[in-house]
Amino acid sequence: MIQELQLRLSPRDASNPHTIKDAAARKCGINIKKINAIQVLRRSIDARGRNVMIQIQLVIYTDGDTPASIPPVEYPMVENATPIIIIGSGPAGMFAALKCIEKGYRPIVLERGKDVRSRRVDLKSLSVDHIVNPDSNYCFGEGGAGTYSDGKLYTRSRKRGDVDGVLRRLVECGAQEEIITDARPHIGTNRLPQVVENIRHRITEHGGLYLFGQRVTDFIIKDSHIEGVITSSGEKYTAAAVILATGHSARDIYALLHRKGIMIESKAVALGVRAEHSQDLIDHIQYGKEGRGKYLPAASYKIVEQCAGRGVYSFCMCPGGYIVPSATDECQVVVNGMSPSSRNNRYANSGIVVEIHPEDLPESYHKYGELCMMEYVKDMEYRSWIAGGKSQCAPAARMTDFCEKRASSSLPATSYTPGITSADMDYVLGDFVAPRLREGFVKFGQKMRGYYSSEACIIGVESRTSSPVRIPRDATTLSHPQISGLFPSGEGAGYAGGIVSAAIDGENCALAAINYISGK
Ligand SMILES: Cc1cc2nc3c(=O)[nH]c(=O)nc-3n(C[C@H](O)[C@H](O)[C@H](O)COP(=O)(O)OP(=O)(O)OC[C@H]3O[C@@H](n4cnc5c(N)ncnc54)[C@H](O)[C@@H]3O)c2cc1C
Repeated sequence: MIQELQLRLSPRDASNPHTIKDAAARKCGINIKKINAIQVLRRSIDARGRNVMIQIQLVIYTDGDTPASIPPVEYPMVENATPIIIIGSGPAGMFAALKCIEKGYRPIVLERGKDVRSRRVDLKSLSVDHIVNPDSNYCFGEGGAGTYSDGKLYTRSRKRGDVDGVLRRLVECGAQEEIITDARPHIGTNRLPQVVENIRHRITEHGGLYLFGQRVTDFIIKDSHIEGVITSSGEKYTAAAVILATGHSARDIYALLHRKGIMIESKAVALGVRAEHSQDLIDHIQYGKEGRGKYLPAASYKIVEQCAGRGVYSFCMCPGGYIVPSATDECQVVVNGMSPSSRNNRYANSGIVVEIHPEDLPESYHKYGELCMMEYVKDMEYRSWIAGGKSQCAPAARMTDFCEKRASSSLPATSYTPGITSADMDYVLGDFVAPRLREGFVKFGQKMRGYYSSEACIIGVESRTSSPVRIPRDATTLSHPQISGLFPSGEGAGYAGGIVSAAIDGENCALAAINYISGK
């Protein structure tokens, strides 16, 4: 017999498989020995009451029944199959490549950056020596922007594709099994590089081509049809379909599309700062006066307010994490966050950002046309670099000083390794974002007591929350409306926001490209 049920257990009981089994047996009124297996479907934390509880949705198997195992995908050898070019090896590119192989097509993945291991050396030099390699950094390189991240796998894209399939592929490639059942799954920056490397091996072992150091600099287009691409080394690659999955930081790709008269659209973004608190404080705010204790994970938060007509909200919160330098070029300071799987650092950081629409921009940006938002974001990152002292040192202020409009005479300790410096955050953020952030922080403090604090630090500028440009595509064929055979994909094209949604969009674009090729 197969029976589904819900349990509500203390964090301690929920940490022990035997206690869970025992509680399930008691709830069903059966002897524990009758249970053959238990399968946890979902696990979530309920911190609303005085005592934090864990809710577990599970299935128990009795009377000879056992869970059916889902077989892994069988990949054929595609070395001599029809090629499909994929630009970018982020989640969209990697999952597009896997889908191509599954369907019998040969992916040619062109990646401007380096493999995960070589990339690590450049990340170190970014943090320690403040040197930005424009092809190898926190956004560019194998695995894309998601590799050295928190690896949070939350998504609202369930209707757009097979989320569980994406999670299963990640587990098959080395991610922890719990990501399938956790309500708020994450992998952690210490584990992601291995997972990304294993995905590459899977692709190359089945005949896919994976090339690093291949920055695409031009498209080969004939009669409004894409025939291939040219890379910075002068190499030409041709195929009947090209999936463009270059992420939200590939400004050279947006400039190329614009220059070639290929339709793009400007879109809203969200920009602000990383707010950093002690994790202990966030644990106490979220879990109550007992704090986290031994059995609960580092607490997270999600918060949103309307301030002067625009949303101000937390973005990519990293419990027990680090703030990292995410610039992709010189003369920029950009911050983002990541955390290890254990989330055991003593800081909690989150992007706190204000939504900004093209019509909110000062008149001077409108001359850039569809690239207006990209130019605005670039300017804010440049200001951040100036205010930080023209290095990867980031401009910062105590939260209360910023809100009370005074300079910080000292700053709290931070997880941001290149260092922070007290700066005029009004200059960094400009007069659209700064006042709304101020209002937002005060309101957050009213909702989460202790959040608005002089011990909290705000660090600028968090500007890579989404793409400043949308590359249009037909809703059914997913092809660019003007250039046939070109499939804009993932976050850079404006169709995803996060690892899982980008992966799903990559899969969908691979299927669309295959449909297009087979219908030709
Ligand atoms: C520090 C950090 C932490 C993050 N944390 C999380 C998180 O916890 N959870 C989450 O869901 N999301 C997180 N994100 C966002 C997430 O990483 C992105 O949403 C996701 O990676 C987008 O996938 P993508 O494949 O569309 O693009 P990307 O991951 O940006 O990949 C694009 C790839 O294209 C390559 N490329 C760019 N231009 C070219 C070119 N001209 N030629 C060849 N290759 C090119 C790049 O090198 C890159 O590898 C984080 C991002 C950062 C930077």
